[in-house]
Amino acid sequence: MIKKLGDVVLIQLSDMDSNIYIIGDTVIDSGTGLNFTRMQDMLRVMGKKLDGFRQVINTHEHFDHIGGNGFFFGAKIAAHPEAAEVIENADAEMSLVEFFDGNLKPKKVDFKVKEGEKIDAGGLSLEIIYTPGHTPGSICLYDRKTATLFSGDTVFADGVGRTDTPGGDAAALQASLEKLANLKIERILPGHGRTIEKGGSKIISCFAKAGVMPVDEDDESLLGKPV
Ligand SMILES: [Zn+2]
Ligand SMILES: [Zn+2]
Repeated sequence: MIKKLGDVVLIQLSDMDSNIYIIGDTVIDSGTGLNFTRMQDMLRVMGKKLDGFRQVINTHEHFDHIGGNGFFFGAKIAAHPEAAEVIENADAEMSLVEFFDGNLKPKKVDFKVKEGEKIDAGGLSLEIIYTPGHTPGSICLYDRKTATLFSGDTVFADGVGRTDTPGGDAAALQASLEKLANLKIERILPGHGRTIEKGGSKIISCFAKAGVMPVDEDDESLLGKPV
């Protein structure tokens, strides 16, 4: 599915793939790569080619967000240093590649981006907000002018990211939510599921107040939840 959200295009390939966002010549998260012919078809509809992108920014190191990186020929890869380590070493445990039955090859990360740095993407100026918890290398991308947050798997429309996978940390996620709650956010564009157009700050504050509870891996409430 392709959905136009003003200056941003959302591509959803399958339940297994992350949301893929296209802003001009920038891609935010590349999906698993397992449905790439479909991706190619969708880009063709948009009048774009796989080699027409300048950069891919990964919100974190899980396979469903990084698996397609290599298909964007010529694009530079940007990720937090903690995520970059997983991507550059094709770390199977931390990327959860086996869970997706995928194949991860080591890939160079050209820009190791940290808290406060900015990346230009189309008309947006994306500030890196370091938000560990779902994974050690999780970042959100914040455009102050349009009050837009690309939240990766830190915050979804209906809840927060899981912390039961390797490197997950409920206390760190709680601290990250409290940090996000201080920003003025309207639009939330998450790593899975539906997007939010208005009142993002309120939703994040609610999640922060509710508190992140530690979960263990055989908790049945996690069944079917995205990683
Ligand atoms: Zn994830
Ligand atoms: Zn995910």
